[in-house]
Amino acid sequence: MMNGISKERMRSLIDEAYEKFKDDKTGKNADYIPYLARVDSKLFGIAACMPDGEIIAVGDCDYIFGVESVSKVMTAILILEQYGADTILHMIGADATGMPFNSVMAILLEKNHPTTPLVNAGAISAVSMVRPVGNSDDKWKAIVDNIERLCGERPRLIEELYKSESVSNFNNRAIAWLLKHYNRIYDDPDMSLDLYTRQCSLGITARQLAICGATIANDGVNPVTKEKVFEKRLAPKITAMLAAVGFYEHTGDWMFTSGLPAKTGVGGGIMGVLPGRFGIAAFAPPLDGSGNSVKAQKALRYIMNKLETGIYNSF
Ligand code: GLN
Repeated sequence: MMNGISKERMRSLIDEAYEKFKDDKTGKNADYIPYLARVDSKLFGIAACMPDGEIIAVGDCDYIFGVESVSKVMTAILILEQYGADTILHMIGADATGMPFNSVMAILLEKNHPTTPLVNAGAISAVSMVRPVGNSDDKWKAIVDNIERLCGERPRLIEELYKSESVSNFNNRAIAWLLKHYNRIYDDPDMSLDLYTRQCSLGITARQLAICGATIANDGVNPVTKEKVFEKRLAPKITAMLAAVGFYEHTGDWMFTSGLPAKTGVGGGIMGVLPGRFGIAAFAPPLDGSGNSVKAQKALRYIMNKLETGIYNSF
């Protein structure tokens, strides 16, 4: 997967984007999870993982931050592997909600299924499906093992974030039990919520997210470890989900302006996938009103527009 994007070009664009946006002060750290409010808001990093596994990185790409909603993509991959695409479409869905990531309204409107594993409701439902159903420890191991294979390194839990999020996640508790009401949670609701909260609290780096993005772009083979992590036919399914809802209610604007299927997290990370070409990630804690990192968006959009090689460009 090379297709005309040289490493030199990627290196210079990443450096340019970093210089251009590093002093941007727009946005604000997430504050509904106390830990996230305290992270240094000046942190900024951009990393790309190229087809041969080479990483091109600038800035704070080894800083460990909360993966948060980017973990939804990883666990979506796990259940797609365990159950197959048709079952996931039926039990959860692959649609956009057009609403914020934590929307209860979206569940009320679409009670026949939670819509997509990439918003809170569908992600809690996805965690509930992880096999072996009924065993929290083994489910947790399956979740972390999968992330390790996708990123090439084992992520570790940020205990302080996990505690911080567990004592403040009232909205997600409501979502878990509402899903139970609609028979759209497939394991114990409290256990599923706890595993979801824990997976969001895993520490990740921009470098690792770039590798995960590249594994998806590379049809399921991790370009660094060379391990086959998931079936090739699932790669376009994941990318379709990213392009549909990766930026929640602003996904259309994002895809229109960047052409990069990507997923954000309130920890400040964004992971992008350009199929057959590269994985790319950026990290900066201050967010816009929808919970998407401002600087990471600006940097990735800048790079994509300069490359003129988005997912919708002809080639
Ligand atoms: N753990 C966060 C939550 O459930 C994840 C949200 C996000 O990153 N958008 O609220």
